[in-house]
Amino acid sequence: MKEDSGPQRPGIAIPGRQGANASAGESSATAGWDYSPAPETAKVAIADRYDLFINGKFIAPKTRKYFASINPANEQVLSEIAEAGAADVDAAVRAAKAAQPKWARLKPSERAKFIFRIARRIQERARELAVLETMDGGKPITESRDVDIPLAAQHFFYHAGWADKLQHAFGSAGEKASRDHGRDKKRRIRNSKLGTSPSPVGVCGQIIPWNFPILMAAWKLAPALACGNTCVLKPAETTSLTALRLAEILQEIDFPPGVVNIITGAGATGQAMVNHPSIDKIAFTGSTEVGKLIAKACASTDKKLTLELGGKSPNIIFEDASIDQAIEGIVSGIYFNQGHVCCAGSRLFVAESILDEVISKLTQRMTSLRLGDPLDKNTDVGAINSKAQLATIHRYLEAGTSEGAQLHEGYGSATPLPSKGYWCRPCFFTGVQPSHIIAREEIFGPVLAVMSFRTPEEAILRANNTPYGLAAGVWTHKGSKMFDIARKLKAGVIWCNTFNKFDAASPFGGFKESGFGREGGLHGLRGYVRF
Ligand code: NAD
Repeated sequence: MKEDSGPQRPGIAIPGRQGANASAGESSATAGWDYSPAPETAKVAIADRYDLFINGKFIAPKTRKYFASINPANEQVLSEIAEAGAADVDAAVRAAKAAQPKWARLKPSERAKFIFRIARRIQERARELAVLETMDGGKPITESRDVDIPLAAQHFFYHAGWADKLQHAFGSAGEKASRDHGRDKKRRIRNSKLGTSPSPVGVCGQIIPWNFPILMAAWKLAPALACGNTCVLKPAETTSLTALRLAEILQEIDFPPGVVNIITGAGATGQAMVNHPSIDKIAFTGSTEVGKLIAKACASTDKKLTLELGGKSPNIIFEDASIDQAIEGIVSGIYFNQGHVCCAGSRLFVAESILDEVISKLTQRMTSLRLGDPLDKNTDVGAINSKAQLATIHRYLEAGTSEGAQLHEGYGSATPLPSKGYWCRPCFFTGVQPSHIIAREEIFGPVLAVMSFRTPEEAILRANNTPYGLAAGVWTHKGSKMFDIARKLKAGVIWCNTFNKFDAASPFGGFKESGFGREGGLHGLRGYVRF
């Protein structure tokens, strides 16, 4: 085992930053206040190598292959991760299938206790998990600590509560579902007389992305387990460590073997899961491109499928909004987690009359965004998750400039980026046309496209002019306008006077090319039961 508390990089001065974090050479009021880093000091043990978690044990992959997991902030190899092949996927699916009947028969209140224990252990090991998440993925420690880990625990707590209330949960919804889906009249009548009996789907193959690794694992596992399913979960290849730590937690709390299996690997491993005949449901979160491939592969089978895909979400600021508040919403909408957020507010629509003011205030606000060591508690913008993703973002920055938009960078271009690791300055484009690539495609980085509108009708038209439909933000002082606009936007989640707020009780998911199915809340449970 090796111990590493991550990169200990000296702080980086930001021109224009005020107060205690100001750099030398600033106004006399702030001069002499050198930046003082506040690095997270917790040490986290990381094994040199991680195997696959199948049937309650860590076992070497039949492929005998391992790949490196890298800290994107300093390019150091953190560990070697097993690469599961088709035979390994098969072993995991067999374990899940064998464990499923017993797990489903377990008294629901006992299932709840197991899920509750996961939540408690996540809370107890929260600091360790936060550090690990930040080291493996590059996100600021304040985000891992205050968002990812607490929300992951919340998902397990929330769904532990549902485990013994499924009959109640689907009383009327279940009846409607059987009416909608059941062609068998007798079954329909029986169901409506007896009430509905939701039963588990079976073995769930769950494939997740790298932007919220442990949180996405929680979104997938918690509802599936509450409904009596067993799982084979695959984290993304750049961020496997917290899912594997979750496997250790399962061992610690004597979770029944085989109920949760965690296998690691890249796209080929995911493909083997999708093609496995004994998987009853695929729950996928990731890119629209891969989502379409999975939809095709599942189309000729009786697998259930839910897809949580990409987005290009509009954030609309009306002239009657509180502009200072909206600026914070713009910043958290696009720069939270380096913009690696499916529902990022990456298209900003500003009422023409306040455009100059918004751009000026946003420019000012961005001078105080601190980019650097993700383990520093002062950091606002961490490292880009991988070299490949950084290259993708650079391609979009070039496309934006070559199509004629103007690039504005926060974290002044005079300030050097850290010499090692993958970094991108938070930035925004003005002079963006709806036809520009940067206005149409998901960039998945800290890049904002700013556009304007004259009337609410134009704002709605332009906001909906996208193949995606995941989320949207509306900023206005008027309640009636808020409800009117929200009703007309085609997006799964709409935030009013806020952005990027999540709760386990609140369903999340998209329309159009952002996928189908919901995660969280009662709606999320629906994808894990049959009637
Ligand atoms: P990705 O589609 O490349 O990969 C996602 C997962 O799928 C990874 O585990 C990957 O190994 C696996 N995979 C890759 N190819 C596969 C294949 N052919 N068959 C099966 N599995 C395969 O996406 P990413 O780059 O990891 O994640 C970013 C994307 O995820 C963005 O588009 C983002 O919007 C989306 N996302 C959506 C949500 C949501 O809830 N809607 C949440 C987070 C991320």
